[in-house]
Amino acid sequence: MDASIALIREIDALLPQTQCGLCGHRDGCLPYAKSIAEGEEANKCVPGGQPVADALATLLKRPVLIAEPSVWDIQSDGRPQQMKAVIREDECIGCTKCISACPVDAIIGSGKLMHTILTDLCTGCELCIPPCPVDCIDLVEDTAPVANDEQRIKVQDDLRHRYYAHIQREEKYRIHRKGPIVRAEIDAAFFAKFSQELNNVPAITLTEKVAESPALDAKTTIELAKLRTQIKKLEKQLSLRADEKKQLQLSELQQRLNELLEG
Ligand code: SF4
Ligand code: SF4
Ligand code: SF4
Repeated sequence: MDASIALIREIDALLPQTQCGLCGHRDGCLPYAKSIAEGEEANKCVPGGQPVADALATLLKRPVLIAEPSVWDIQSDGRPQQMKAVIREDECIGCTKCISACPVDAIIGSGKLMHTILTDLCTGCELCIPPCPVDCIDLVEDTAPVANDEQRIKVQDDLRHRYYAHIQREEKYRIHRKGPIVRAEIDAAFFAKFSQELNNVPAITLTEKVAESPALDAKTTIELAKLRTQIKKLEKQLSLRADEKKQLQLSELQQRLNELLEG
């Protein structure tokens, strides 16, 4: 493992793995870790608060900076209050938008069915709230006891693992997805590269890009549209009454259409 990857890994190990993007890195803790290694200030992790800013300053031998403030009160461990999301299930329309937004796959449900959040897994990152079209997700205070250092490392490792698995799944379905991709900014190639260096996260493999059909020029597009309309018209007429001349005309139009489509 080269030195820069080892440093990114050490920095990432101190970040909460909430993957919330509040540090300004929309696709999570690892890109922020990379940016810190490249010189960005190490006090921007909002859920990590002052303890994370201090730990990073020590690791990097940099001056201690005041951590970015959170909107929540500070807990007994010096970090901002841990929150959880809760779906008002009777209002949920089952649109599934929150599922792809959740970086740690804490939401279960499927199309047109009520969704629910697995509160043990939810980090309170809030990423599921903006995509919800009916605004039926609330944030509530997490009443679980504040984690000690050992428990926190275990939770962070689990969240990191879940995030890599999430990226791998999103990557796999990316080219087949019909619905909106809520977290389209994830740099899957960067995570894929990093996942090869670690043995405690799922390896991410990139989905091969399907060769795109060459863009059609405007003239061809118009001709295609005309041909399709003529074909439809003839097919309708022939479905009502057989006509040899029209059948021949239809074959010619279909052949021309195929020629244009094949370029
Ligand atoms: S927990 Fe959120 S703010 Fe902190 S490093 Fe990770 S993505 Fe950034
Ligand atoms: S359920 Fe919502 S708040 Fe909880 S981790 Fe997932 S996206 Fe974040
Ligand atoms: S985004 Fe909102 S309405 Fe859609 S499935 Fe999730 S909670 Fe239900």
